[in-house]
Amino acid sequence: MVELVDEAPDVVLAVYAHPDDADVACGGTLARWARSGCQVHLLICTDGGRGTTDPDLKPAALARRRADELAEAASYVGVTSHQVLGATDGELDDRPGLVGELVAWMRRIRPQVVMGHDPTAVFFGQDYFNHKDHRAAGWALLDAVSPAAALPHYFREAGPAHQVATAYLSGTLDPDVWVDVSESLEAKIAAVSCHRSQLPADDGWAGDVVRRRAEEEGRRAGVPLAEGFRRLRLGG
Ligand SMILES: [Zn+2]
Repeated sequence: MVELVDEAPDVVLAVYAHPDDADVACGGTLARWARSGCQVHLLICTDGGRGTTDPDLKPAALARRRADELAEAASYVGVTSHQVLGATDGELDDRPGLVGELVAWMRRIRPQVVMGHDPTAVFFGQDYFNHKDHRAAGWALLDAVSPAAALPHYFREAGPAHQVATAYLSGTLDPDVWVDVSESLEAKIAAVSCHRSQLPADDGWAGDVVRRRAEEEGRRAGVPLAEGFRRLRLGG
């Protein structure tokens, strides 16, 4: 049975690997929730400095550019706060203490809902397999949500325990809930289009791809435009 998530949480924390990932994965949902008064906090784990085919573009310069693109995109989505943790692009699985870092953010922000990568999704047809940073960020987020953030003897120095109620995982092969983004897709397209370092020169490309994917998910969900997620209900 198709289930649409209608209610917006009060506070959401989205944790993604690269500066463009959240906008691509769930920008429509975040924009919709932000409009209805939800606080939207965004953590980006890596600096994205290796996301180029240009051997002459220095990673530090690309990272700065991507931070600017992220800030611009965040304003379209209506993000309350965004932060780049600054791990080396492509090496997130080597980041010491990533789970503890996420626990500290969770205990500070105290979100009801977290969003992130589905780390179990590896092969998408014959054309794409999931980036290792996406898998690493997804597992770290889940490990941080439960048990670590919820139990006081984990990372005691990171503040009082906090139970996240629900996780929505994007980039999943097994979506089981959808959010109708018919009213917020334009904001998502505007946000995705800010990540110019990751897009072909053709101006309309991002909008076409984003709309086509939202239409596909919309057909599954029975609404014009949607984003699909795997949902985990964790209590709290
Ligand atoms: Zn990415």
